[in-house]
Amino acid sequence: MEKKANQCFQCGETEESLLNNMFGYTICDPCKTKLGLFQDKTIKKYVSLFDKSKEADPDHLSYEGEVDFRLAYLEKDYIKKKIKLLHIKERLKYI
Ligand SMILES: [Zn+2]
Repeated sequence: MEKKANQCFQCGETEESLLNNMFGYTICDPCKTKLGLFQDKTIKKYVSLFDKSKEADPDHLSYEGEVDFRLAYLEKDYIKKKIKLLHIKERLKYI
């Protein structure tokens, strides 16, 4: 896939009217639909569930805390996997 200045990171769509910028990533409408983004009512439901758990156990994370934890885990996991793949590429030059 040729890398253009503004294209969907997933499928490469370049039609401007279909493109969205989400948190610095360019994504087209069809790919955005497939993400399964939560509606506000779903997010509120989880906030409420986590708040109830926190009432029973003060050490329990809030929903926002849980999301922050998952984001940090995801970032570390991404970096670990990227290092592993880059290491393979580097070794392929010498073996
Ligand atoms: Zn797309």
